[in-house]
Amino acid sequence: MTDHAVTESRAGRPTPDVDHEVVIVGAGVAGIYQIKRLTDLGVDAMVLDGNADLGGTWYMNRYPGARFDSESFTYGYSFSEELLGEWDWSEMFSPQPETLKYLEYVVDKFDLRRHMRFDSKVERMTFDEDRDTWTLRLEDGSEITTHYIITAIGVLSIPTTPTIEGMDTFEGRSFHPFHWPHEPVDLAGKRVAVIGTGATAIQIIPEVAKEAGHLTVFQRRPNWAAPLNNRPISEQEMDDIRARYDEIFAACARSPGGFEHEPDRRGWDNVPREERVELWDRLYDGPGFGIWLQNFSEIFMDADANAEFSDYIAARIRQRVDDPELAEKLIPRDHGFGIQRVPLETGYFEAYNRDNVTLHDAAENPIERVVPTGILTTDGVEHPFDVIVYATGFDAFTGAFDRIDIQGREGTKLRSKWADGPITYLGMLVSGFPNLLMLAGPQIAATNFPRACETAVDWVTPLLEHMWAEGHTRFEATPDAEAAWVEHVAAMYEPFLLRKAKSWITGYNSNLDGHEYGKMRLNIYNGGGPKYTARIREEAQEGYPGLDFS
Ligand code: NAP
Repeated sequence: MTDHAVTESRAGRPTPDVDHEVVIVGAGVAGIYQIKRLTDLGVDAMVLDGNADLGGTWYMNRYPGARFDSESFTYGYSFSEELLGEWDWSEMFSPQPETLKYLEYVVDKFDLRRHMRFDSKVERMTFDEDRDTWTLRLEDGSEITTHYIITAIGVLSIPTTPTIEGMDTFEGRSFHPFHWPHEPVDLAGKRVAVIGTGATAIQIIPEVAKEAGHLTVFQRRPNWAAPLNNRPISEQEMDDIRARYDEIFAACARSPGGFEHEPDRRGWDNVPREERVELWDRLYDGPGFGIWLQNFSEIFMDADANAEFSDYIAARIRQRVDDPELAEKLIPRDHGFGIQRVPLETGYFEAYNRDNVTLHDAAENPIERVVPTGILTTDGVEHPFDVIVYATGFDAFTGAFDRIDIQGREGTKLRSKWADGPITYLGMLVSGFPNLLMLAGPQIAATNFPRACETAVDWVTPLLEHMWAEGHTRFEATPDAEAAWVEHVAAMYEPFLLRKAKSWITGYNSNLDGHEYGKMRLNIYNGGGPKYTARIREEAQEGYPGLDFS
């Protein structure tokens, strides 16, 4: 039986028997920082994770080429001077193995593993209205009770694959990159198919091209992409970064996207065309999301500005692809640059100059079915493969919530409430679901992920302290506050061209029923990090006017 002494004295009330005062679901970037904050306070908290070990997305995505699109030193946690002082990033954009090592290092340094339970997939969460407690049921049938649940289950943690006739008859190996095997996959000399051209495929393709005998990319819609411009970080540079950490995190907090990249605020119309191009040349050759986020903000809102910039990027693609006809196929026509989440690439376009890489136009000539030896397309051609990689996206934002049977007050199911898209208060609470908090769930500012996680944890933790200090046993977002927030989230889509994007950000996923193009889901808060942070801080400073306490 757990020792409830600390939490009892915090609450100043008799505590019904629960196994843990707080249960965090998910041992990724968000869950790790949350357990650190709670255990620092002496709270009895436990992290549950369905995987065999910690790391979340960085535990799962082990495909060739997997790495940050965030500068490594803006992705790491900012909460510990000591940690910042002792961790060295080896590359500007850390590869998956190093990132996973970093998360393991953090957990071991702060001795957090003893608060984590792995292979513990949560199937159901039920709120008990009489006791103000939650019961979590795990896949193995066991149950855990708690006063508060904090979800840290990721926004892209449920992979989706198409339903294509014959998929199960394929005699080679096939997988989604999220399930890339943990042991090395020998692709030397193999015939490999990659289906999809999202950010994941765009990282995989150049790497697999180097190894495979032949690689065929099945592209339904081309995607804009720009160079990552990765490079090693020298010891001297790491020392400079360390000395600059305060400045770096202050810049991230100031910028809408949570990066050091801040938009060019000179105004599109105030800058002559030659100067615009000079800026773009600099950004195209510069690191990371600069090309997207240090650009003129008008690109995201004004169709003409967006078209001019998209033409610029199209010209850069033409310079990099030897075959002019192929280059045209790689240039998107149905959306402008930056309207969908921009994948960053390393040698993606050059991969198509290799003799062992073929682009298959799956819009012109779709996949008809998978056969034991490969893929049959509608023109009757059978393409033989040894390996098929389904880089076909995720059930984003709500998928991980939908996979758990979450029952709030009066038996309300979260998946029913969210059937047409998420409905939240401040992206962290849901009316009808008391004592449930979400870290990095839907409707928060879509920023550099760890920056958003730290913001959420730094808001959620004082709310719990408030509960204990005041002796409350239940909090819940009011329906009015929630409705006003959702209305505000909807309004923040209005100025942006992205509201028409055929992208997971707006809820589109051709492999999921109810996620058709045009059925917009309010998945993110478009107001940017600073505005979002100001709003949630105001909520706390004013004594949580959008919440009912009892
Ligand atoms: P995605 O952007 O949703 O792309 C899925 C791709 O699969 C699209 O090209 C889609 O084509 C294609 N597709 C789906 N079903 C298909 C079918 N039946 N036939 C042919 N093509 C099909 O998914 P993702 O690439 O996994 O990326 C998701 C997000 O993960 C990214 O936007 C990013 O935020 C994150 N991510 C981050 C990093 C990083 O930080 N470095 C790396 C990878 C991913 P349509 O466009 O025609 O639907």
